[in-house]
Amino acid sequence: MAQYERPSIKLVSSILPSKGGQTCYKSPLTDIDGISTNRLVKQYGSPLFAVSEKQIRENIREAKLVFNRFYPKIQFAWSYKTNYFDEVCKVFHQEGSIAEVVSSFELEKALRNGMPGNKIIFNGPNKKKEDLIYAIHKKVIIHIDSFDELYLLESLAEHLNVPVKTAIRLNMKTGTNNEWERFGFNYENNEAFSAAKRIINSKHLKLIGIHCHIGTFILSTNPYKVAAQKMVHFALRIRKELNSTIDYIDMGGGFASQNTLKAYNNMSIPSLSNYANSITKELFNSEFNEEERPTLVLETGRALIDNAVTLLASVISSKRNRTGHRLLTIDAGVNLLYTSFWYNHEIVPTKPYTDFYEDTTVYGPLCMNIDVIRESVLLPAVRKDDVVAILNVGAYNMTQWMQFINLRPTVVMIKDDGSINLLKEKDSTDSVKY
Ligand SMILES: *Cc1c(COP(=O)(O)O)cnc(C)c1O
Repeated sequence: MAQYERPSIKLVSSILPSKGGQTCYKSPLTDIDGISTNRLVKQYGSPLFAVSEKQIRENIREAKLVFNRFYPKIQFAWSYKTNYFDEVCKVFHQEGSIAEVVSSFELEKALRNGMPGNKIIFNGPNKKKEDLIYAIHKKVIIHIDSFDELYLLESLAEHLNVPVKTAIRLNMKTGTNNEWERFGFNYENNEAFSAAKRIINSKHLKLIGIHCHIGTFILSTNPYKVAAQKMVHFALRIRKELNSTIDYIDMGGGFASQNTLKAYNNMSIPSLSNYANSITKELFNSEFNEEERPTLVLETGRALIDNAVTLLASVISSKRNRTGHRLLTIDAGVNLLYTSFWYNHEIVPTKPYTDFYEDTTVYGPLCMNIDVIRESVLLPAVRKDDVVAILNVGAYNMTQWMQFINLRPTVVMIKDDGSINLLKEKDSTDSVKY
């Protein structure tokens, strides 16, 4: 039952949408997979990140299903930097995803999470000599990013006298506004072809794949179509001119999640099936015959995890500015919610209220003016100590959060069987010495 709400008088400067102000309804997030959100906060404190194991499994299963509808050989690789809580990674691994890592730290994590080296893709521009030696030792698949790395890897493999499985990352024009040209070898100027040639002619390095990752939160499927065309063309050229075949084409990540970018108002997000269609068409239309068809590797990050994590936060205070506009301060700030700088994260109540919704600015608890979670969001009459839920926060926040002013919070996972797993305890004054 809704609680009594104290009436308030507010100057409305725009045309009145209804007598009572804005009417709106947002379903309250009363529970996550059957566990009461208010109970979670009572038990584990506020703010609290809650991960849904069920949602992760649903996401990856659906993605596999969708892509398999279009193409028979699909391999997902979980992008560790998107969310590297071990329990999260393990769920992806259980569902058949291999690991995609971009640092020696992430590499070690993947090994500890039970991935054998040949199921780990080592990407990124930052592979030091000792990292490469370690990776070679563990038989990890190394995606080479530069000629410097290629020469180093070649000499290490020769010195250790072992074969090393590699792929090269390609960068290319795909029609996106900002072309990511700093990673990998350029396609258009033949740099990538020279790199491939060098690897194929090398005694110890083996070229088993080609890779690209053309951007992130890409709102159109066309760049993928262009990229897939170029990747296929490249693979065929290697076959023709260098008489060498590759096992896989890795199209990286970059699919948009169900979040709203601040810069776009009514944007529509392509479905996984739209992305899948654009990519796989190019693979099918190519000259590869059935056995030759390369495996399609996908390193999808945010689109598979964003909606599986909710940030529960409590209202610290509710006040009004000079013009009567409501200002809410909650106990979760931008240091926990890095993505709030470019998303309009949806915020919903966690219990029913009346249908009077008011335009509200939501601030975090930091003593910084930039600590704004939403400049403008419709919320019902939440008051002090009420819990609100910030939705779709699973990607990049828990890996990029900052220790700042307040101790970083507890993280729990709601398990498939309804139990609650403590993934991380709230930091303590003892654990934060600097
Ligand atoms: C970050 C990253 C991903 C994941 O990207 P999303 O946009 O989250 O899907 C995949 N591959 C590489 C190489 C990355 O750096």
